[in-house]
Amino acid sequence: MDLTLSPSEQQFRDEVRAWIEANHPGPEPEAGLDEVMAFRRQWQLKLHAAGWAGISWPEEYGGRGATLIEQAIFVGEAARQEAPSPANVLGLAMGGPVVIAHGTDAQKQRYLEPILTGDEIWCQGFSEPESGSDLASLKTRAVKDGDEWVVSGQKVWTTFAQYAKWCMLVARTDPEAPKHKGLTYFLMDMEQEGVEAKPLVQITGEGEFNEVFMDEARIPDSNVVGGVGNGWGVAITTLMNERAGLAFGAIAQIQNSLSGLARLAKEVRVNGGTAAEDTYFRQRIAQLHIEAETMRLNAYRGLTKTMQSGIPGPEGSLGKWQWADINQGLTELALEIEGAYAPLARGGKNAIDNGAWQYGFLRSRANSIEGGTTDILKNIIAERVLGLPRLR
Ligand SMILES: Cc1cc2nc3c(=O)[nH]c(=O)nc-3n(C[C@H](O)[C@H](O)[C@H](O)COP(=O)(O)OP(=O)(O)OC[C@H]3O[C@@H](n4cnc5c(N)ncnc54)[C@H](O)[C@@H]3O)c2cc1C
Repeated sequence: MDLTLSPSEQQFRDEVRAWIEANHPGPEPEAGLDEVMAFRRQWQLKLHAAGWAGISWPEEYGGRGATLIEQAIFVGEAARQEAPSPANVLGLAMGGPVVIAHGTDAQKQRYLEPILTGDEIWCQGFSEPESGSDLASLKTRAVKDGDEWVVSGQKVWTTFAQYAKWCMLVARTDPEAPKHKGLTYFLMDMEQEGVEAKPLVQITGEGEFNEVFMDEARIPDSNVVGGVGNGWGVAITTLMNERAGLAFGAIAQIQNSLSGLARLAKEVRVNGGTAAEDTYFRQRIAQLHIEAETMRLNAYRGLTKTMQSGIPGPEGSLGKWQWADINQGLTELALEIEGAYAPLARGGKNAIDNGAWQYGFLRSRANSIEGGTTDILKNIIAERVLGLPRLR
């Protein structure tokens, strides 16, 4: 593992840095999710036009063919400059890579370009009311009817389902088979009568995720990805891409937050001085810096492994766990520094002193649940990275 950038990688970073500086659209609107999504669609169009959408996808599929290091540089630089997310974040990070890895030529031809442009938003229909961590126990049924599948059941926590055209849906196609083997991965059209998405309001007041009800929804056989009965393996590819894609943006986001935390500590007075001069707060901030650095170095280790094997491995679980812990610790500490003022500020995303910490604190509660809970990630690391005995 070499942690220094080669001359061509430095040149790439300078190019990315200059482009984002010149094209940054400013902070996201605070008005509501519809406005935020419209803003992010515009941003994705701009990214795509300049060749920055799907940068690690192969060129033959409309990507830039960038190396994983270059992708990490891009994601890190975008987060450092607090650039918005693209609208189709799930399509770019998971949908596209899954279609490229497991899809047919016809699927690649049909689905990849509108993912890159953001014309078709994607969502991930895995979790159900009684199946989250134990995903393989899911109950949504798909029954073959001629050259179509008829799907009935319910998904939950489906991020951006209310904006999505396509859903990466895992459904049970063989109830007799052992639970991991009876699953199939589908691309389901959300714009049909048998599908209804109902937003759920989160602790932040936003409605990012949804309940999705399927009542005899129809999916053509040609929208099966990776073959009937192979849904578990395809789902794992999706989850590995989700966790691996997180790391470098998350590191830059944490570094920005740590700078904000230091600014806050210099402003707030405690015990006759500023919080930045207080031993207790200084040590807490220093500890978070150490943890963030450990996360950064582990992310490089994960990247090296992915470059060797070609596919993100279970190591991505470590970064996701570290990110959740650090982000929760950081926002908790910010509120502790604010002290009695903390419950008074109103939640808002953009400014450091207008409730951004309050918003961050509330949103970070989900970090140890979304994309796999911390408990599950620890199990994966124990069993698949450290080789400890299996739980069951
Ligand atoms: C903001 C957000 C966005 C999300 N977006 C999506 C999405 O787009 N698509 C999607 O499909 N899902 C999405 N999810 C759902 C997410 O993947 C699940 O919430 C998560 O996998 C946990 O499942 P669960 O909620 O059913 O909890 P459960 O699995 O019921 O877990 C409950 C508790 O038990 C613990 N636990 C369970 N099993 C074990 C075990 N074997 N060992 C130790 N502890 C265990 C868990 O850690 C947890 O603390 C989202 C969740 C959030 C919070």
